[in-house]
Amino acid sequence: MKASWGIDVGGSFVKIGCIVNGVFEIVETLPTGPNCEPLSVLRKIAEIIKREDSSPLSAGLGTAGLIDHKAGGIIRFSPNLPLWSDINAGVILEKYLEVPVTVDNDCNVFAVGAISSGLIPNKGLWLLITLGTGVGGTIINDGSILYGSGYAGEFGHTTVKEGGIPCVCGSDGCWERYAGKNALKWYYSRVAGLKASPREISRLASEGNTQAIEAYREYGRWVGIGLANLANSFSPEGFFIGGGLSAAMKHFEASAREEFNKRCKHPWNVSLLEDSPTAGAFGAACMGFRQC
Ligand SMILES: [Zn+2]
Repeated sequence: MKASWGIDVGGSFVKIGCIVNGVFEIVETLPTGPNCEPLSVLRKIAEIIKREDSSPLSAGLGTAGLIDHKAGGIIRFSPNLPLWSDINAGVILEKYLEVPVTVDNDCNVFAVGAISSGLIPNKGLWLLITLGTGVGGTIINDGSILYGSGYAGEFGHTTVKEGGIPCVCGSDGCWERYAGKNALKWYYSRVAGLKASPREISRLASEGNTQAIEAYREYGRWVGIGLANLANSFSPEGFFIGGGLSAAMKHFEASAREEFNKRCKHPWNVSLLEDSPTAGAFGAACMGFRQC
């Protein structure tokens, strides 16, 4: 078949898909979980790909976490899959598939999918920020991702409040503690006195619930603080916002923009980048193809 394969390794599922004749489709989905063991899962992924395609053209793998780009894509730390630390998933898959396998973090593969689809411009410096459980970042310059010495774009772990909320990375006051999913839930429970999921908070805000609107106002402030820091650091052409929380941007854009305008002189050029359940695997397939 000679397809470009893409693998999205998530905390609940692995999605395996491929691009054939310019069309992407998911071929198989495997369950994962906190006890998911990397070697057996990677072997299973390779078996599925080989079963469908005896001579794959290329393959890419995306997953949340800290990926050592300089070391060839070793997964150093995975927040959802604790057994996947210091795993060279690319080398393991290459042994089975006999093609180079590119491994990168979920935000970078999402960016490559968006560049390949023409959603992120091929010219100029752009920043992609994903707002979800964590806050991901990707620096895109003239259609290429900038890695620096290996880990560039970890904006979620820049400090926005010294002595603030402890973070999974070992630091405290990281931006993702204030602009991630748990932060939104916290702002809501603080004003409403009860818990709700981001989906419920969004629905409530759409219905005019003042406590949900207030939670988003606070959430937007922190999004704006982080974006202003990045605008002052990079002077990008603009930002793309993706991730699970981005769909509710209409609820937090005003306070984010207000905070942003207070803290930098750059124009507010922030666009929503539509996410889909298959965007990760598609981006991984595009990334693998670009490297082959
Ligand atoms: Zn952190």
